[in-house]
Amino acid sequence: MTNSSQPRTAGSRDTAGSAHTSNNGPNAGTATLPEDSFEALGIGPDLLRAVADMGFTEPTPVQKQAVPPGIEGRDLLGCAMTGSGKTAAFLLPIMERLRDAQPGTTRALILTPTRELAAQIDEERTQLGRHTRIRGASIFGGVSMKPQVKAFRDGVEILVATPGRLLDHFQHDYARLDGIDTLVLDEADRMLDMGFLPDIRRVLKHLGRGRRQTFLFSATMPKPIVQLSRELLDNPVRIDVERPQGTATGIEQAFFPVPAKRKPALLIELLERDEIGNVIAFCRTKHRAKRLHQKLEKAGIPSAQIHGNRSQNQRTKALAGFRDGRYRVLAATDIVARGIDVEALDHVVNFDVPNMAEDYIHRVGRTARAGATGEAYTFVAPDEEKHVRDIERAVGRPIERRTLEGFDYNASEAERFEIPVSERIARHRAQRKGGGGGGGGGRGGGGRSKSRGGGGGGRGGRSGGKGGGGGRSR
Ligand code: ADP
Ligand code: MG
Repeated sequence: MTNSSQPRTAGSRDTAGSAHTSNNGPNAGTATLPEDSFEALGIGPDLLRAVADMGFTEPTPVQKQAVPPGIEGRDLLGCAMTGSGKTAAFLLPIMERLRDAQPGTTRALILTPTRELAAQIDEERTQLGRHTRIRGASIFGGVSMKPQVKAFRDGVEILVATPGRLLDHFQHDYARLDGIDTLVLDEADRMLDMGFLPDIRRVLKHLGRGRRQTFLFSATMPKPIVQLSRELLDNPVRIDVERPQGTATGIEQAFFPVPAKRKPALLIELLERDEIGNVIAFCRTKHRAKRLHQKLEKAGIPSAQIHGNRSQNQRTKALAGFRDGRYRVLAATDIVARGIDVEALDHVVNFDVPNMAEDYIHRVGRTARAGATGEAYTFVAPDEEKHVRDIERAVGRPIERRTLEGFDYNASEAERFEIPVSERIARHRAQRKGGGGGGGGGRGGGGRSKSRGGGGGGRGGRSGGKGGGGGRSR
């Protein structure tokens, strides 16, 4: 308080190199910790060192508000959008509290909706814990169970998990988590959207019954999350950092009205003119993400796709390639891409307008992380205009509309963008049949449900078919 008139500048941090001299009397007055520093949060020197190694100079607002009460053992209810630094906001208090933990018991469980997020949180845990003895592991599907089984057996202190794979493990004896005294629900609203709420409740049954410290983070607070928070949290500290702004500052947002069929061409044009460097392009469906990827490749723009039809391995490769600049575009669906942290991401393109304003906020949060600047462009086809007002309401102001000069908005397309499902099935079938001609041949309308459901012949429709027309042989 006494020094509050003195402006704080970056250069005033000259005590950083000798943090432990502050207990000497005469200096005590001047060595008060700048209130915005990590030191002021109450974390130990090993964690401070790690934070500095990671290049974090100042805690983000959510970290400032979460870490001290978290260390005290309080429950937290955090409403903060993507990119606000929530990961360290919950990891730092957890790690501080685990400082004197007996090794061999898993104490903290972090539940998160996607594999990518789990991997990312575990990675940040590794970095923050590098000067400590705290161990951790991630538990998610699509990869081998073995190392995960070992993590359970070793009782690593911190587990980060997706609910589904965790439940798989719970079927086995080795998977016991009755020593959990800290629980984090990260991106709770997205877990809800993905239908994980029942899984979460099942997971809770496997945890010990004693008093638990619980952190719940969610970018939005739909009713079921409010309900869950009432059940799980005991007099929580509420953190609501991003609400007033709607979306992070520093993001330039624009709508590009464009006929639906010209969307791919518009994106290609923006990329070719270098209006856009690297970009995550969010598409409404897996098919559209795949088609966009194909179109871009055809146009000579290195791209990758990331959506629910891609294996874990493919997704990891796509992400890595995007991170290291091999791909300029990541064509993605929302569910998979949300929460992925890609540094130096300067653009988000909503190739399709999200029909939930909240999704818009999340997506736009992919750029301008932790105070950087970025741009978020949204392609709006005429039939998507109806969602635009909701978005502007959520953001709290009108968003600029732009036209790309010199771009032919009305040119005709040689090729359709989306292939109708019926044709996709027909093509697929024709391929299986090995050149058996155009469509599904004489099978007629009932063919699809038959070949799927029907007993003996069911699989034959997919795997057989070399024999031409008859096609249902095994
Ligand atoms: P959220 O979970 O809120 O979406 P993250 O925890 O993933 O956000 O953090 C977003 C990005 O900001 C990450 O790249 C992270 O390394 C970085 N970051 C977090 N805290 C800080 C900080 N105090 N200073 C600088 N960068 C930070
Ligand atoms: Mg996060």
